[in-house]
Amino acid sequence: MSLARRLLLRASRSQWLARQLRDRAFFQRAVRRFMPGEALDTALDAAAEFAKSRIGAVLTELGEQVTTRTEAEAVREHYLGVLDRIRRRGLPAQISVKLTHLGLEADREACTRDVLALARRAEQTRSFLWIDMEESRYVDATLNVYRRVKTEWANVGVCLQAYLRRTAGDLETLFPLSPAIRLVKGAYNEPADVAFPRKRDVDANYLKLAVRLLSEAMRQRAKPVFGTHDLGSIAKIREAAAALGLDGGAYEFHLLYGIRAAEQRALAAKGAGVRVLISYGSAWFAWYMRRLAERPANVWFVVRNLV
Ligand SMILES: Cc1cc2nc3c(=O)[nH]c(=O)nc-3n(C[C@H](O)[C@H](O)[C@H](O)COP(=O)(O)OP(=O)(O)OC[C@H]3O[C@@H](n4cnc5c(N)ncnc54)[C@H](O)[C@@H]3O)c2cc1C
Repeated sequence: MSLARRLLLRASRSQWLARQLRDRAFFQRAVRRFMPGEALDTALDAAAEFAKSRIGAVLTELGEQVTTRTEAEAVREHYLGVLDRIRRRGLPAQISVKLTHLGLEADREACTRDVLALARRAEQTRSFLWIDMEESRYVDATLNVYRRVKTEWANVGVCLQAYLRRTAGDLETLFPLSPAIRLVKGAYNEPADVAFPRKRDVDANYLKLAVRLLSEAMRQRAKPVFGTHDLGSIAKIREAAAALGLDGGAYEFHLLYGIRAAEQRALAAKGAGVRVLISYGSAWFAWYMRRLAERPANVWFVVRNLV
């Protein structure tokens, strides 16, 4: 992992830095590149715009590491309302939640009940619930919640990170559930015994896991989603899917709002299933720093806004 990436990921956890930067106009302008606005309405409006180009959306309210049940319950109620709004507006939109935002650390049982409630509402509103994957210390708990919820509700998926050494094994244990898996490379600062430190090893593992997912999709034992902006990987995944005889409906590509916008439209125009993950809310500092860490050149964009 590069020094710049490591520093930016460490900075993402700094409350002091968050206080210094959050209210600065230049920083807020830079953040706008990755989110249409803080209000839910702006995210729903953006989803409606994407729908015109046959691109679906996944909505996520920014926030993590909630420590009280009262806060977690407010997050659950917020997302229940989001699912209702998606249905009322007839949007091709799903939601994605972080378990620590739903109070995983405050009370695991209550957090599981909240995820069950969201999966139920997602089913009632014909939407879909995604569970993000956070730092490696939450993987076991996240997969346990996923297994529990998936046995009751079909319309729920979980994110897995290709940078983790354990992910190939986790994937095999999930296949009996016919899981929906959003495969990503991984966005956090992890030690070398837990995650591959070299990018080329992460990229290679990503492709290996992608091919494994496609082969299980052939047998209807997985619904793969590839959360990546890596155009080389996207091309190879499409080739591998075509070689297996899978059509575009068997898998999807999910990209972040503001990244590779032209390619998102081009992929959708070629008939691929594409969704854009749209973030909103005021708790964007740690999340934005992770976006900078993914491409440290983005820091120049912040500097340009400053000058
Ligand atoms: C839909 C979606 C959901 C995600 N959910 C999670 C999750 O739950 N848990 C988790 O740990 N991570 C998540 N991530 C982040 C993911 O782990 C990676 O950190 C991120 O996607 C960058 O990796 P990449 O696959 O795009 O490939 P890379 O090889 O890192 O990048 C490929 C190319 O994409 C472009 N690019 C990548 N990132 C940026 C950026 N920030 N700004 C501008 N250009 C960029 C660059 O041109 C780069 O060369 C998610 C990503 C997506 C797209």
